[in-house]
Amino acid sequence: MTILIKNILLNNQTTDIFIDGNTFSKIEPNINIPADTVIDGSRKAILPAFYNTHTHAAMSVLKGLGDDKPLFDWLNQDIWPIESLLSPDDIYDATRLAILEMIKTGTVFFSDMYWFMEKSIQAVCEMGIRAAVSLVQFDLFDEEAARKKKEMALDFYNQPNPCPERIVKSISCHAVYTVSEDLFKWTAEFARKNDLFIHIHASETAKEVEDCFAKYGKSPIEKLEEWNLLGPKTILAHAIHLSEKDIEILNRHEVSLATNPASNMKLCSGLFKFEKLLKSHCNLTLGTDGSASNNNLSMLEEMKLCSLAAKIESMDASAGKAQDIFRIATRNGAQAFGLNAGIIEEKALADCILVDLDNVFLTPDYNLISNIVYASDSSCITDVLCNGQILMRNRIIKDEKEIIKKAQKLSGKIRELKKKAQEEQKK
Ligand SMILES: [Zn+2]
Repeated sequence: MTILIKNILLNNQTTDIFIDGNTFSKIEPNINIPADTVIDGSRKAILPAFYNTHTHAAMSVLKGLGDDKPLFDWLNQDIWPIESLLSPDDIYDATRLAILEMIKTGTVFFSDMYWFMEKSIQAVCEMGIRAAVSLVQFDLFDEEAARKKKEMALDFYNQPNPCPERIVKSISCHAVYTVSEDLFKWTAEFARKNDLFIHIHASETAKEVEDCFAKYGKSPIEKLEEWNLLGPKTILAHAIHLSEKDIEILNRHEVSLATNPASNMKLCSGLFKFEKLLKSHCNLTLGTDGSASNNNLSMLEEMKLCSLAAKIESMDASAGKAQDIFRIATRNGAQAFGLNAGIIEEKALADCILVDLDNVFLTPDYNLISNIVYASDSSCITDVLCNGQILMRNRIIKDEKEIIKKAQKLSGKIRELKKKAQEEQKK
């Protein structure tokens, strides 16, 4: 499959771009090579697509359930009772809804932490996006649950990957307040042996850190280091409540951090130390977290919030510069998962978005990256390509209506489940 994009704006220059297979093979003006598909790029610009490094895709069907509560009340009262009742087919429909929203908003990769991973894998395979799909370790300090999780991990990694070009299997540990020391240590060893990415919620709330000190006498970051979970293939989500010592540890291990400003502000978890960590050896990336705590998966919106949160956190208007924010949402996110992507250059993976320069949000056009970070919404994005395939053309995505219909049907079931769960809680 070859695609030729004619007369497109790239870094303020008009050029042609030839995509051969899954990479950008030639970028120069006036390319005259026959292609399977030719796209007229006039009055459009090409940009890297977005890489969402922390989410729970299937939570797309839980958005709007139990808003306006702190993290632990929200999890215990609204989320966990419903999640435990969802079937594998529900997860499939919910993940497809999430992927639809991601493509509409220019995202081509997500790092997922959820259950029934085979269903997420199926949805990712079918819809053409990329993902790191992880088995989530979560035992609530119960030995039998830990034993089962280890078995599930072995089983998951022994199953063939139906889509190795776009899917990387990884492993995640939910958090220090839900995973036992034994399961953390086992996971570290398992990940090392199998060269897996590790994805963990860490130091999200002050309570998490306080409880960790009360239980272990150390911070979550110190414990993760002690249990051998930190390294360049580790992605820590949130990482808000960090001491100087924690930052020094993260620096030493060159971990990737996934900041999630919308979720952190909505749940009042706190503000990420953006500027300080930008200058560290950590690789900063951006995630939306799940739709239940956001309540969408738009990396455009997340970028703006990330910049504004960085400014308020440091009380410095020069913090969270648009260019830095754009880079963490694109190139850094791809690099966190070892992808040569998130950049428009020859030999890089052909992932990109095309934006409409005549869209009201991109007018006037003094600075395109500033407009994308601070002014745009998803209506600016006309086309999305991933791995050299067109996922959205002129804002149309295959099966969109059917995906929405299925999700609407599922929301009816969830409404019933919520009613039942509330009755159970009253008893
Ligand atoms: Zn999360």
